[in-house]
This record gives sequence, structure tokens and C-alpha cells, in this order.
Amino acid sequence: MSSTTRDESSIAAPNLADYGRARVDFDWSSAAERLEGLGDGHLNIAHEAVDRHARNDRADHVAIRWLPKRGESVDLTYGDLQQRTSQFADALTALCGRGARVATLAGRVPELYVAALGTLKAGGVYSPLFSAFGPEPIRQRVDLGEIEVLVTTPVLYRRKVAPIRAELASLKHVVLIGGDASDGEGDPVGGVIGWDDFVATGSPDFPAVRTAADELALLHFTSGTTGTPKGAMHVHGAVVAHMVTAEFALDLHPDDVFWCTADPGWVTGTSYGIIAPLVHGVTCIIDEGDFDADRWYGTIAEQRVTVWYTAPTAIRMMMRVGLDPVRSHDLSSLRVIASVGEPLNPEAVVWGQEAFGQAILDNWWQTETGGIMIANYRAVDVKPGSMGRPIPGVDITLLARTAEGEPALDDDGNPVEITTADEVGELAIRAGWPSMFIGYLGMDERYAKAFIGPWYRSGDLARRDADGYYWFVGRSDDVIKSAGHLIGPFEVESTLIEHPAVSEAGVIGLPDPTAGEIVKAYVSLAPGYEPDEDLQRDIMAFARKKLGPAVAPRLIDLVDQLPKTRSGKIMRRLLKARELGLPEGDTSTLEGAGQ
Ligand code: ATP
Ligand code: MG
Repeated sequence: MSSTTRDESSIAAPNLADYGRARVDFDWSSAAERLEGLGDGHLNIAHEAVDRHARNDRADHVAIRWLPKRGESVDLTYGDLQQRTSQFADALTALCGRGARVATLAGRVPELYVAALGTLKAGGVYSPLFSAFGPEPIRQRVDLGEIEVLVTTPVLYRRKVAPIRAELASLKHVVLIGGDASDGEGDPVGGVIGWDDFVATGSPDFPAVRTAADELALLHFTSGTTGTPKGAMHVHGAVVAHMVTAEFALDLHPDDVFWCTADPGWVTGTSYGIIAPLVHGVTCIIDEGDFDADRWYGTIAEQRVTVWYTAPTAIRMMMRVGLDPVRSHDLSSLRVIASVGEPLNPEAVVWGQEAFGQAILDNWWQTETGGIMIANYRAVDVKPGSMGRPIPGVDITLLARTAEGEPALDDDGNPVEITTADEVGELAIRAGWPSMFIGYLGMDERYAKAFIGPWYRSGDLARRDADGYYWFVGRSDDVIKSAGHLIGPFEVESTLIEHPAVSEAGVIGLPDPTAGEIVKAYVSLAPGYEPDEDLQRDIMAFARKKLGPAVAPRLIDLVDQLPKTRSGKIMRRLLKARELGLPEGDTSTLEGAGQ
């Protein structure tokens, strides 16, 4: 029953065994040659993810194993997926021609995956919308993305789209999963088609359109953790990065059973919930149900999941539930557990070691980067709390900043790179990796400002230690300057959650006439603890002892829960706005998220 005993000899060798060597040897163009391509530099994500496998001996391999909320699992092989995505692509082409902009608004159901890949196959542009969005975030994104076709369910349509349908100028057609045209009755605009009727018009032999590698394929909205969500545009050529990063950071091998818990409404759920694993020809587990520790461990045990990609918010929930449910399942199939979306507190890495017998591998990326940029790797030493080292082929630097937080420039006007260890700077990536975004929808100036010299500026601050490991400090908007110290909220939060009574923590800076800013923490308590002044004092003393008085929070509020984006990212900007009585800005993301 132990979840930690593993027969190492039967486990595939790591893809990245020699990190130093891969950093030197790797190049993107050789990697791209491992994809099939469509001739003359043409490349289509759906061809690489589906058709390529369906034409060889993987046709009968399970591509998607769907676990509905209730009832029996449903398998789609690569062959099935090839036929269904072709039908969708052909029907879409008949309806809108090439280049249609299609959004999905649905839970984790097989049709969503068919629509996403079918759209790409047809040479269209796919944009996922998170199913918990309310009408306003839907309207904003459909408008900004000029979405023409929406694939959704009758229930979501009636509740969220029909009431605003007349305002959605670009939207021409709605395809209803499990519904028919009658579901659009009373709709002022019409143009509602049932899924079955729609796909029945398409041929299962429709071949992938020969899209150029630099042709627009995906529109992804950022989480809106720091402000209004931005629409990031990505191209078909990004698939090279999806393949390579999944090989290195997730260690995907063809026979893996892979489970990405991110919803396909977010960028992680598309890049690593759909594209990357299918390109590798693995079996993807798609669970329609929401988080429940027992259900999750049961799924890993029953499906023999080998690679599991999840997020700190889920890991913190598992930590809260404790080790008992872990112990009552056989989780010995797990070879890799990885995390993204927020900093993974060292406490969580240590807990993972205890619970699963292996370190949870944190990795860092953003909607804009399209794929993993910095990672921990299965065969490379993990330093708990570090997001690891750059993916081979990805050139990362830290840019020095002026007192105002702008990039510091040398005498020739070039940005200054930090070369000494442990100094904090803005994390930047040399432009030109295959999954780099090619623009923000409707925000050309903002896009231009994201680059300086050869570098893309991430807006995150980090430091690099003498071994080349990167440590997240905070978003540049979130770092706190107190009495001459630069304080990263992540460090303070990570220390706070080491206190047994603390479940989660959010840390902000408040204006202060003497210190410039003072540190304030909001903490939610672990089960079994009651908020009172003694506990508050105890947590304060604990933080002082660990962090020193200059960095420890001066104020601590015990709260029921922290404001978060739907994917579980702590929204420090809301904590601050509430504290200072400022407008809370765009909070639509409380109902939805990016990564
Ligand atoms: P917005 O850009 O709209 O404010 P967002 O930045 O949260 O929202 P995403 O692109 O979903 O939108 O998230 C990327 C950000 O999440 C990163 O820039 C970083 O701040 C944070 N992040 C992701 N993974 C990690 C990680 N492993 N460690 C630390 N931070 C991470
Ligand atoms: Mg961002």
C-alpha cells in the first residue's frame, strides 16, 4: 500500500540526463526537424498532435481517456481523434472558410478537445474561455478576440451568452454540445447549431491545412492577476516549444499516462493539457470532476498516472487534507510531479517528498511565453523554493533596475545584465523562442514595451544563485521597499506558511511615512485553529525569528480566505486596493484565470 516504493529499474530513463550538455548541444532547428511538418516550412499543430500518430502504429493508442463526473470512462484513440477533428475542421471550413476564430466555453468534455484541435486543423484560430466566466468577461474576450464561432453547452449558452448575444458583434455561429437548434429559440440573433448536426456535415478525411509556422493559431488571455487580462497571440510554430519543454520538464515518454489538472480554459490546460502530450503520443487523462483529494488520488491509482502536472493551489489544498488519504492509495505509478502558476513554497516541495516520495518539480512560465521557460528536472538536483534552471535552448537573464523599477541602461543605451549571484533583477528571456507571443490583442504599444534590446521583459523579479538556479522574488508590481530593503512577498509568505497554524498567506506593502512601505500579511488558518490574538502574536514572533524584524510583517490579519483568481493565484492587488480603499479594478478574473 505504500505510495512511495518504486521499482526504479522499470522506469524509463530521464529525457534530460545531462543538463549541462543539453544546454550546449540543444538547438531549436534540429528539434523542429523531429516534427513531421507539411512541407516547405509549413506546420500545423493539429497535424503534429493527432494526424501524424493516427497514420502510424499509434492509431489505436488511447489519446484521451475521459472520466465523466459520474459513470464509465470514455476512450478516444488517436484514430478516433483524427476523424472527429477532421469532421469538425471540414464543417467549420464550410461554415466560415479558412482562418475562423473559434472559442470554447465548456467544462472538461471531449467535444472541447475536438473543437480546439479541429479549429487548428482547419487553419483557424482557437481561444479557450474558462467555463466559469460570467457574461461580462465573456463579452470582453469575444469582442477583443473577434470570435466568430462559439462552442458551448445549452446550459452555459442560456445562462451566460444568450442574454448578451445581441451585443456580440463578431459572433456569427454558436455550436451547442449535446444540444440542437431549438436551444436557440428566443435568441434574438439565431445562428445556433447542435453539435451532432454540425459535425455530421464534415468529412472524417479532411487533411490539416498547410499553415505557415508563423501563422496565428491561439489566443490566450492572461490571468488578470495584476490588472485587466491581456490577449496573447501565439503561432503554429509554438508546437516545437510545446514538444521540447514537455520532453525536458515533464519528462514525457510515449507510454506515459499523463494528467494535467489545469482546466483547458487556461493556457496551461491548452499547451500542456492538449497540445504537448498529444504531440508526444501519450494517453491524457481528462477528469470532468473538480478537485477532491480522494477522487484525485483514486484517479492516479486507478489510471496508473505516471506524469502529473498541477498547481500550487491544488498542492496547498492537498496539504490541508493531510497524509491519510495519500497513504490509502497506491500512487506508485507516479514518476514525475510538476507544478506551475504561482511560486511553489519550499514547504510544499518538502511535503511532496514526504507524501509522494519525490520532489514536486516547480517550473515557471507565463501566458506570453506559451511554454515552460525555467524548470526543475527529474534527474537534476532540486533546491526547494527554486523554480530551477532555464530550459535548454532558452536564454534567460536578469536585468538590473533603476530606483523607479525601469531597466538600467549602460552608456551605450543597452540594458544591463546582472552577472553577480543572488542579486535581484527583472527576469528576461532572449526573444525568438518558438512559443513567444507575437502580440497583445489591441495593445501594440504594450507589446513593444515588453521588449528591450534583445530581451523580452517578464515583469517578474528573481535572483540567480551561484549554481545557476533561479529564485522567484515577486512580480515587479508586488515587491515591497521598506527602509531601504527590497522585500519579495514570496519569501515572507513562504516563511509564514511554515507556521503550523498557517494555511495560506498573502503579503503586500502599505505606504508608510518613515519606512516608505511596511509589510502587511494576510493569513488563512489551517483546519483546527481559531483566530485569536495569542495566535496572531505567535505567528508574528515566528516570522520575526525567521526573517528578522526588517523583513517580517509589521501587521498580520487573520482572514477566512484570500482573494484569488479562479486558478488559485493570490491577488495581492485586491488585498492592497481593499486596504487602501482604492477601486478594485477589473475583478472579472475572480471568476476565471489564465495559467
Ligand atoms: P496578468 O498578466 O494578467 O496579471 P498573470 O501574470 O497571473 O496575470 P499568467 O500568464 O497566467 O497571468 O501567469 C504568469 C505569472 O504567474 C508569472 O509571470 C508569474 O508571476 C506567476 N508564476 C507562474 N509560475 C510561477 C512559478 N513557478 N513561480 C513563481 N511565479 C510563477
Ligand atoms: Mg502576467
